[in-house]
Amino acid sequence: MDENKEWFCPNCGTKNTGNFCVSCGAKAPEQVAQPQAEPEVQQATQTSSQPVQQTAEPQMKPGKMNAMAIVGFVFSFFIGLLGLIFSCVASGQIKRARAQGIDEKGKGFTTAGIIISIISMIWQIIWIITAIAAAIGAVISQID
Ligand SMILES: [Zn+2]
Repeated sequence: MDENKEWFCPNCGTKNTGNFCVSCGAKAPEQVAQPQAEPEVQQATQTSSQPVQQTAEPQMKPGKMNAMAIVGFVFSFFIGLLGLIFSCVASGQIKRARAQGIDEKGKGFTTAGIIISIISMIWQIIWIITAIAAAIGAVISQID
């Protein structure tokens, strides 16, 4: 398949790249097809079993969605601290469940909940500082 593959003429030893030897005209030896180890692509046929998720841990029983994970995720938008607490608790619960061989759902929610609640908390702290600074400014301007 590769036309530009270099080969050495078995008759005269000339290095060639074409299909025939440039020196003696001998035909290029048949390019031995590279032994491509082509394992038959085992397509994961959609069986009715649970989706392929964990390969490291076999024998996992599918678990339910962790309710705390959703609570933490929802809280993370409004009350960062509570969102963080609930998400961390849920994360711990899911880890414990998995240690017991139950594939509890909601890991994505806990990860998102933790990230969002941290962002929320930073945002809320900035907001509180701004509010305090404004209040102090108002008080100072009244004293003046
Ligand atoms: Zn030759």
